[in-house]
Amino acid sequence: MDDRADFDAVDRGFIADLPEVLRDVDGRVVRDAHMLDYITDDRPAPDSVNPSLWRQSQLIKRGGLYRVVEGLYQVRFSANLTIVDAPDGLVIIDTTVSTDHSRAGMELFRRETGNDKPVVAVIYTHTHFDHYGGVKGVIDEADVSSGKIPVIAPGTIESFNKYAIGENVITGNAMSRRMAYTFGLLLPHCETGVITVGLSTNNEDSGLVKLSYIPPTDGITRTGEVRTLGGWDFEFLYAPDTEAPEEMHIWIPQLRAVTCAENANHSMHNIQTIRGARTRDARNFARYIDETLVRWGGQADVHYGPHTWPVFGHDNVVSFLESQRDLYKYIHDQSLRLANQGLTPLEAAEVVQLPDAIGRKWFNRYYHGGLHHNVRAVFHKELGFWDGDPATIYPLLPDETARRHVALIGRDKILAEGREAIAAGDYRWAVQILHHLVFADPGDTEAKNLQADAYEQLGYQAEVPQYRAIFLTAAKELREGIATEGQANTDTQDTILAMPIDLLFDFAGVHIIGDKAAAIDVRINVTFTDSGEDWTMWVRNGVLNARKEHADDAQLTITGPKAALAGVLLQPGQADAIVAKTGLETEGDLSVLDTLASVMDTFSPHFNISTP
Ligand SMILES: [Zn+2]
Repeated sequence: MDDRADFDAVDRGFIADLPEVLRDVDGRVVRDAHMLDYITDDRPAPDSVNPSLWRQSQLIKRGGLYRVVEGLYQVRFSANLTIVDAPDGLVIIDTTVSTDHSRAGMELFRRETGNDKPVVAVIYTHTHFDHYGGVKGVIDEADVSSGKIPVIAPGTIESFNKYAIGENVITGNAMSRRMAYTFGLLLPHCETGVITVGLSTNNEDSGLVKLSYIPPTDGITRTGEVRTLGGWDFEFLYAPDTEAPEEMHIWIPQLRAVTCAENANHSMHNIQTIRGARTRDARNFARYIDETLVRWGGQADVHYGPHTWPVFGHDNVVSFLESQRDLYKYIHDQSLRLANQGLTPLEAAEVVQLPDAIGRKWFNRYYHGGLHHNVRAVFHKELGFWDGDPATIYPLLPDETARRHVALIGRDKILAEGREAIAAGDYRWAVQILHHLVFADPGDTEAKNLQADAYEQLGYQAEVPQYRAIFLTAAKELREGIATEGQANTDTQDTILAMPIDLLFDFAGVHIIGDKAAAIDVRINVTFTDSGEDWTMWVRNGVLNARKEHADDAQLTITGPKAALAGVLLQPGQADAIVAKTGLETEGDLSVLDTLASVMDTFSPHFNISTP
């Protein structure tokens, strides 16, 4: 706590504050800086907040326009907009989360610096929406399609589109619900609610965040590729299967500035993000950070990232990157050492501790990832979902297990044990034993309130903001039931339009109710007029398949632009209205759309988590 160097670094180069309140075009509040007013530099951590998380939140709540070095600016929201002031124009590295944010960021930059150079290129460092969602507030799509402004991204263009859109949409409903838990989207901003989420402040109204998307025009698939943009060279290091499926690091020699994108941060990152995504490769984090050190470590004077604040000075950059590399390598190697010793994931997670040389660096602490779940994630990546305990390969369901425990032990005894555990500060046990009562009878208010007490204490103690948010959200839902507001939405018009067509059919496929659909036999030909592609899709044996060709035996053919066709495919029940409104051409038997609609599921993001 005596080490205050981060407080100097975070304010270095400060030019101007963000607008205190950011509104969208309709005047609705998208982001409100005052939501975090209770976090001040001079206020010690309240009893309900882990002091390490409080300190990180004091740092992360800052935002605004910063000059990182001459020629490199950042507008820091929850995700940073990085502006490279190259001789012949501005190069934007990551466009922050929404058009409202990026527009406000560009306005702030232009007003404060008087710089009116045009934007000549956009670079996406990786496939997550908080880094591309603001692109249309920075450039016009017409300038991209005309070839005037390149959009550069890691991986092939097809692969980037697939992961940028696919990772968030196909499992979008489950992910939204889990995101609400892990990022505290349903919690108030206060010392007993959400503080910050460690890498970012989270004082956005997620329901109003408007994602935009422009597919990249230039994919980076090899390390060492160079593009000259605005008169300066940008050199890339391709780092796939790390924090995102497609990611890259960037070196700007004229600035001696390096970024490892989201693979190096003022926080441990997730090997498994608990909102839900494919498990990442801890070894690749270490591998590509080390490659970065080899290529550019000798010359780098500053490291900047898409979240948090820069690292200044050559020696600091090198020791920061070395330490972050060792952090991920340590987690990877120790997890697998213990796996080879026969430990299960949970046992290993309880055993692995970081050595002081790594763990006592603030930037390695658990503000986004957590050591406990990252150890389990390494097992998951390398060994799959089974923990190696035969009792878990085919277990009874949690509610059935709970009912049998209650029948065996008795409600009163379990309740008394839960109370005693809470009184003794043994909150993990309290949560586990009371879980039986809650899952055996979700109407047991006394048990639910008691379990909520235990969850709250676990939340207040947690250094990992995601654990805090999960525990506090569980407590809230146990007490109040499930709220129906405040969920993020990732399937906006832009993301659906950018979905590769095969992914659109995949998305439709996960809506099929298998047992019902086994009774139908439907085939539809589809022609997408914007791309000129012919497809056929059929539902048979309870499965939706699609091929890129027309079939002779289709009962219906639909022709039109992708946006309208996507509407029909994903909401066949609304097909009549969509056809009428958009002028889609149809030929054949329209009633097959009703048949299709009758076997398609709808998803609600308000499913139970803390109760069965
Ligand atoms: Zn991010």
